[in-house]
Amino acid sequence: MKHDCQETELLISGYLDGELTQSDRQRVDLILEDCIQCTETHQEMKKFRKGVGDIPFDILTKKEKTAINKYVTTNTWANVGQLMFIVPLILLYGTGAFLMVASVIKDPEAPLWLKIGLPSIIGGLGLMVFTVVLQRIKAHKTDKYKDVHI
Ligand SMILES: [Zn+2]
Repeated sequence: MKHDCQETELLISGYLDGELTQSDRQRVDLILEDCIQCTETHQEMKKFRKGVGDIPFDILTKKEKTAINKYVTTNTWANVGQLMFIVPLILLYGTGAFLMVASVIKDPEAPLWLKIGLPSIIGGLGLMVFTVVLQRIKAHKTDKYKDVHI
């Protein structure tokens, strides 16, 4: 059958996706019967699609895929935003807390309870923030795992 191998690639792709009309499918069948190059293209595409097909993701419709891609992208940006917010905050907090504690401890006029209490409060708060961040990171990893299995 007379055909343009390059153009047929598109047809083969649609053929594998089951998107072709009856007549187009028959045309591809005929082409595959007598063109080695197109048969090879067909085999390659089939192999590739089988590999992709093992992932449940491929079962989804195009609309769902777009939605998931969009979700993952926004999620990534949200995470970047969170990181951009949290990291300087921790640094700021750490530096500020350190300076405050240092100045209180160095101050001979400061009462003893403040010298002991302030580092304790700041240390406790720091530990709390750290724990929350750690939990969020753990939760994020679990979320990611769930995403793969949508
Ligand atoms: Zn061909």
